[in-house]
Amino acid sequence: MNFQTIFNQKLPQVEALAPGRVNLLGEHTDYNDGFVLPTAIPQQTVVQIGLSDDRMYHFYSENLDERVDIGEESFRAGEMQEEYGRYIFGCIQVLKEVGYTISPINLYVKSSVPLGSGLSSSAALEVATIRGIRQLFNLPINDVEIAQFAQKAEIQYARVQCGIMDQMASSLADTKHMLFLDTRTLERCVLPLPEGSSILVIDSGVPRTLAGSGYNQRRAECEQAAQLLGVKALRDISDVSLVETLPEPLRRRARHVVTENNRVLKAIQNVEMQHVSLQKFGELMNASHASLRDDYEVSVPALDILVDILQKTPGVFGARLTGAGFGGATVALVAAGEEKNIAEQVLKQYNHAGYTGNILVGA
Ligand code: ADP
Ligand code: MG
Repeated sequence: MNFQTIFNQKLPQVEALAPGRVNLLGEHTDYNDGFVLPTAIPQQTVVQIGLSDDRMYHFYSENLDERVDIGEESFRAGEMQEEYGRYIFGCIQVLKEVGYTISPINLYVKSSVPLGSGLSSSAALEVATIRGIRQLFNLPINDVEIAQFAQKAEIQYARVQCGIMDQMASSLADTKHMLFLDTRTLERCVLPLPEGSSILVIDSGVPRTLAGSGYNQRRAECEQAAQLLGVKALRDISDVSLVETLPEPLRRRARHVVTENNRVLKAIQNVEMQHVSLQKFGELMNASHASLRDDYEVSVPALDILVDILQKTPGVFGARLTGAGFGGATVALVAAGEEKNIAEQVLKQYNHAGYTGNILVGA
């Protein structure tokens, strides 16, 4: 299947790409107004667009082999049932809401970002879609605005309450650069990955069953802790001794957030001073995992075992769980060029421990 056969149209007029992402440091900090440090992964989403000639919007996802055809009237009325269609539809809607005219299009999407694995295929789809539309209709919007429109589309039309990290990372980072982002002010800078390093992401094979309820509970605990400490968000605390007065488990939850924010700041101070030691960066990742495990309590035995194996493997500078936790994936910073070799060793040991992992990035 391709654009031509699906839409019976010669060639797409534009093609746009956007990558998935993985967060290196700064976990569970975004809803505390804190700092994050994601980077783009090599897998990308590709969107091809041409003007439709029958006054209907047509979308097709190669990954899902699913087609959506929708007339202008239904479109205006917001009638969009297909789940994946809502992401694309949402992107078009938010652009229309700010006054741009987006006439009916044919949109073909294919992606090498795994869907629903925590590598943000959703943001990649949104950012690629808006990039393509910007190009086709010559819209005067910048990359930060793309991320903001994309986030709005996901919240309002796909109905996922997401922060802005994923869209900002997909829009502004690449595989050689990470994005330091202050999620409160959107102050940011793009920094090179520590020299000589590569990213290895391994899925633990454990589904994130408790992720939803656990996530909501942690959010509520953080809000409570901030309230008791008299601040708007935990981001406003940088002196970790201040959390000591809190009752348990709020003390440990807050301690994770405060120390995690400090770790992100420490990591980028190093980068700015042009002597990012890989060792230092790796140590911060290891400390992040310990904090997520012991203070924030969002790890599970499989993730701890996988991270432990990674941390003990030569060529690995640091490793931790990534994403919300309760299952899902790990991210490691490893010696450039050694990803595959390291992954094979690690997966073998992980297997001996009774689990089956899967390389998501670095194969
Ligand atoms: P993640 O963003 O971590 O991959 P999400 O649950 O946030 O996981 O987003 C996954 C959803 O995004 C999919 O279920 C689908 O609706 C949509 N999506 C992302 N990429 C594509 C694609 N290439 N084709 C169709 N739908 C996609
Ligand atoms: Mg997503």
